Amino acid sequence: MPELPEVEICARQLSSRLGGKLIRQVEVRDRKLRLPSDLMGRKVTEICRRGKFISLRLDDGRRILIHLGMTGWFEFTPPPRYRLAISTDDGTAYFEDPRLFGEVRVVSAKQEETILAKLGPEPLSPGFDLACLQHTRRPVKVALLDQRLIAGIGNMYAVEALWHAHINPKRPANRLNEDELRRLKRSILRVLQKAIAYGPEIYEVQTFKVYDRKGKPCYRCRTPIQRIVLGGRGTYFCPGCQR
Ligand SMILES: [Zn+2]
Repeated sequence: MPELPEVEICARQLSSRLGGKLIRQVEVRDRKLRLPSDLMGRKVTEICRRGKFISLRLDDGRRILIHLGMTGWFEFTPPPRYRLAISTDDGTAYFEDPRLFGEVRVVSAKQEETILAKLGPEPLSPGFDLACLQHTRRPVKVALLDQRLIAGIGNMYAVEALWHAHINPKRPANRLNEDELRRLKRSILRVLQKAIAYGPEIYEVQTFKVYDRKGKPCYRCRTPIQRIVLGGRGTYFCPGCQR
């Protein structure tokens, strides 16, 4: 499922393909996506990511606001099935989304501001810290997924970061000491930056230390990885070295 790194990679690709270009055609193949018919001729002035959202800023002030949902992705050669295609003189971006949970909508700058204002800080922004965790007794893994506390982290990168930081995902967030918060912050930055560096091939080449490794030996201490459910989500950790 796309989290901050995948969305960042997607936004960078869209930026290099669509940034500064005039929209020549918008083909909507899925009627659930309702887009206005007057996007043709508009220029895409800027493309940015905030949390798990991608914003295509248009020269008339409107934004095409995209959330990739569970399986959304953009391809630049026509895939067998796609929900939407945005064409410029230089090529076409195809929105592929087999599970159909992604969203694409056109909003005003003000509407976008309201939507994005609900998000917590960006982990990769200067000055980011985990002070937000001191105000919740929820398990740290559940708190990390709360987009209002921190934007962009999802299930995979939360469990990976907790493994790197040697922290048990069940620990109440407000019980982490300063040293653990420092380790966790460092681990979050490490897993996110490493994932972004994979680039567009991420889904083919990425490997995990603990995510989706139930029953397999921990890379650090050989204890079998456990899977539990926290906040309704499958959560992987090592009972041997994540205390
Ligand atoms: Zn271990």
